[in-house]
Amino acid sequence: RETAPPALAVHDVTVRFAGLTALDGVSFTVEPGSVHAVIGPNGAGKSTTFNVLSGVYRAASGSVRLGTAELTGRAPHEIAALGVARTFQNLALPPHATVADTLMLGRHRLTRAGFLASGLGLPSAKRETAAHRERVREIAGFIGLEKELGRPAGALPYGQQKLVELGRALCMEPQVLLLDEPVAGMTADERRRTAAIVAGVRDGLGISIVLVEHDMGVVMRLADAVTVLDFGRRIAGGTPAEVQNDPAVVQAYLGA
Ligand code: ADP
Ligand code: MG
Repeated sequence: RETAPPALAVHDVTVRFAGLTALDGVSFTVEPGSVHAVIGPNGAGKSTTFNVLSGVYRAASGSVRLGTAELTGRAPHEIAALGVARTFQNLALPPHATVADTLMLGRHRLTRAGFLASGLGLPSAKRETAAHRERVREIAGFIGLEKELGRPAGALPYGQQKLVELGRALCMEPQVLLLDEPVAGMTADERRRTAAIVAGVRDGLGISIVLVEHDMGVVMRLADAVTVLDFGRRIAGGTPAEVQNDPAVVQAYLGA
C-alpha cells in the first residue's frame, strides 16, 4: 500500500532579489487535512514563501509540488486552477461589489460555460449559475455572513471583510489554502471566531492550510505543525510545543 503524498511539498527553495537571499534552501511538507504554520520575525521570508507557492515569485532553485502535480515555474492562474487559493496580508477586495458578487469571483475558475454562454442566456449556463449561487450561499453561511450577502463588502467591519476574503478563496474549492495573517487587525472576539472557522475549514472541508500568523495564541491553538524561518532559512520545525521550546526559535525572536 502506498502512502498518500503530502498535500504540499516544498523542497530546497531559494529565492533571490538583487543582492538579497529572501529564501535560502527552505523545505517543508504539509500533510493532507492539516494546518501548517510558517512563523518567524519580520523579514524572515514568510510572504515570500506564499508568493513562491502561488507563482507570484519564481524560485531560483528548488521545487514545489501539490500532491503529485509539479507547481515549480507555473504561472499564478495555473496554480490557482490546480487548487491553491490564497488570501493576502492586506485586504484586496473590490471596493463596491456586494458580498455575494465578491464570493462569486472565486467561482469564475470553475465556470465551464463561460461568460459568452451566460450572456446568451443558454439553459446550461443558467443551471451552472444557479449552482454557483447556491454554493456561494453555503460558503457565506460557513463564514457566518449569510445575512450580509446583499451588502457591499467594503461597508462591512474590517474583521468581516477579512472573512469575505477567506470566503472568496473557499469558493475556489481549493485543495490547499494559503492564509497570510488571517486575524491581523481583528478584535479578540473576531480572532476567536476566525480561528474556529479556520479549524472548520480543515476539519469540515478537509482543506490543507498553510498559515502565516503573528498571533502566537492562534498559531499554537490551530497548527498541527510549524516551520520557523529566520533570515530566509528554516531554523526549526515540529509540533507547536516542540518549536515553542526550541532555543533557536527563542533566540530568533528575542535576538531580533
Ligand atoms: P516576512 O513576510 O517574513 O516579513 P518577506 O518574505 O516579506 O518577509 O521578506 C523577506 C525578505 O525579502 C525581506 O528582506 C524583504 O525586504 C525582501 N523582499 C521581499 N519581497 C521583495 C521584493 N519584491 N523585492 C526585493 N526584496 C524583497
Ligand atoms: Mg509578510
